[in-house]
Amino acid sequence: MGPNNQPIAISELNHQYFNNYSLFQHRCITCGICSSACPVAGVDGFDPRKLIRIISLGQKDDAIETKWSWICTMCGKCEELCPMDIPITKIVKTIRGMRHREKVPGILHQGLEAALKTGNNLGLPKGDFEFIIQDVGEELAEEENLPDFKVSLDKKGANLMMTIHNKLVNTHTEDLKHLWKIFYAAKEDWTIPADNWEGTNWGLFTGDDDAMKKMTGKIIENLKRLEIKNLLWPE
Ligand code: SF4
Ligand code: SF4
Repeated sequence: MGPNNQPIAISELNHQYFNNYSLFQHRCITCGICSSACPVAGVDGFDPRKLIRIISLGQKDDAIETKWSWICTMCGKCEELCPMDIPITKIVKTIRGMRHREKVPGILHQGLEAALKTGNNLGLPKGDFEFIIQDVGEELAEEENLPDFKVSLDKKGANLMMTIHNKLVNTHTEDLKHLWKIFYAAKEDWTIPADNWEGTNWGLFTGDDDAMKKMTGKIIENLKRLEIKNLLWPE
C-alpha cells in the first residue's frame, strides 16, 4: 500500500529513480527503530520507515506528494538511532524541495518569498518594525520601572546582535520583553538590525537550499555591517 492506502502497481516502481540523490535509502533494513523513536509517528499514518520505503521503491510521485514529509519535525532523533546511518532528515528536506513551490503547505513559501524580498517573513516595512520594537521597549520600561531601558537598533560595535522571529513583532511581543529583561539584568551590550532582522529560515523547512543560503547570508551581512562578533539567533 502507498501513502494513500491504495495498492501499488508494480509497473509504477522505479528503484533507480532516487539513486542520483545519494540518500542511501537502499541501506534500510526496515528495522523500525526510526518509527519507534519518532515523536510524530502515527500522525496521519506517518512512519519514517514507510517514507524511506516508498523512496527506495522509486515511487517518485507518492514521495513528493505525500504529506508525510511535511509532518516530520526534522528533529533528527530517527537518524541518531538508525543503525544504517541513513540521513533521514536530509531525505525529508530533499523531497520537500522536489515539490512544486505552489504546492508547499501553508504560508511557508509565501513567507519565504516575502523574506527574500523584504528581509522578513511578514513583509513588514522598516518604519512599522521600528515603531513596534520601540513601543514594546517603552512598555517594558514602564511596566518594570526601568526608566533607563532603551531598545538598541543598528548599534555598530555592540557585543551581541539578536535576530527576531517574525511572531515576536506580530502575535508574541511579550516574549521580546522576557529577553530584554535578561539583557538588562546582565548589562548586555546588544542590538537588533533594523533591516533583514528575520531569524526564521523557511528555506530549511521547504527544502529550498538556495533560499536558505540567501537568508543566512543576510544575517552574516548584518554582522559585518555592524561589526559584531556574537550572534543570538533565538530561532
Ligand atoms: S532505523 Fe534506519 S534502517 Fe531502520 S527502518 Fe529506519 S531508516 Fe531503515
Ligand atoms: S526527524 Fe522526522 S522522522 Fe525523524 S524522528 Fe524526527 S520527526 Fe520523526
